[in-house]
Amino acid sequence: MKPPPFDYHAPRDVAEALEVLAASGEGGKVLAGGQSLIPLLNMRLAAPSVLVDINRVAALDVLEVEPGGVRVGALARHAAVERSPAASRVQPLLRAALRLVAHPVIRNRGTVVGSLVHADPSAELPAVLAVLGGSVRLARHGGAVRDVPAAAFFTGPLESALEAGELAVSAFFPSLPPRTGAAFQEVARRHGDYAIAGAAAVVGLDEDLRVTAARVACVSAGPVPVTVDVTDACARRPAASVPWDAVADAVRGNVDPEEDVHASAHYRRHLTGVLAVRALRLAAAEAARAAHGAAGGMTGGVAGRPEGVE
Ligand SMILES: Cc1cc2nc3c(=O)[nH]c(=O)nc-3n(C[C@H](O)[C@H](O)[C@H](O)COP(=O)(O)OP(=O)(O)OC[C@H]3O[C@@H](n4cnc5c(N)ncnc54)[C@H](O)[C@@H]3O)c2cc1C
Repeated sequence: MKPPPFDYHAPRDVAEALEVLAASGEGGKVLAGGQSLIPLLNMRLAAPSVLVDINRVAALDVLEVEPGGVRVGALARHAAVERSPAASRVQPLLRAALRLVAHPVIRNRGTVVGSLVHADPSAELPAVLAVLGGSVRLARHGGAVRDVPAAAFFTGPLESALEAGELAVSAFFPSLPPRTGAAFQEVARRHGDYAIAGAAAVVGLDEDLRVTAARVACVSAGPVPVTVDVTDACARRPAASVPWDAVADAVRGNVDPEEDVHASAHYRRHLTGVLAVRALRLAAAEAARAAHGAAGGMTGGVAGRPEGVE
């Protein structure tokens, strides 16, 4: 099928993009990498009257890495963030999750911010933003910029806090605190498919390597990334003696997955608990490694990084 007709604008700077979006009202839509929007247009599941193509706005093609976190501009492609050693050093969970997003050819074009705004509960990056407590920066013509925390940004399946006339200019992924580790685990039918279930985990340890903070954000487990704080279930114990069965039960009790052709709701709930615990255990191991390496300056780590890759 072909998309329904629309007016096409390709602004050269952010101000012009915001002006066009403001004038377009409810009918305006931003085109970034097009990896989700173009299929939706072709299937006529989306019918915007105005498309605002931001691909010529060079100011949005930025990746700012500072000790406190990684700010990803709206035109930074998945592949650019995935290949950035600096971004991976400050927030390694980004690269771990990006490697599970679709295939390289899609990651060359799709954007991190586009994936967040698209707000698919089966997508990896919304879960990463949620588990890290990141935020999305939104701008509008003649209005103040607002930073919306992940907990308020994802409002439903394919729905976000972005309002008509707004442009998401960037997303911020905070770095990991000292003695903290992270991990991402998922099961998909084939590599690159959306996950049947998945979990992003962050675990923090004290100086005696007891768990002081533990949370997961679950993928394909509800209408938005479902964030569950399991610190209490970990009972402030060293990872080796955490009652992981109880942790899995705590996660399963907080998710509400749907049934589809790939999996029943029961199987998805079970799998979510398994993957959450797997991710938490890997994150705890990374946190312990980070604690041992703290003297050398390492503060956080992520599971799943291949040897020799920064
Ligand atoms: C075969 C295939 C497999 C895929 N598998 C996965 C997968 O496993 N995991 C996964 O997470 N994703 C997957 N994707 C989706 C892919 O990752 C997309 O790149 C991503 O979801 C959207 O990014 P984009 O830049 O292409 O956004 P677009 O398609 O351009 O836009 C998506 C939506 O976000 C809005 N939008 C985009 N940028 C902005 C902005 N700056 N401000 C306001 N609104 C904006 C658009 O208006 C639109 O509504 C897959 C895609 C394909 C085609």
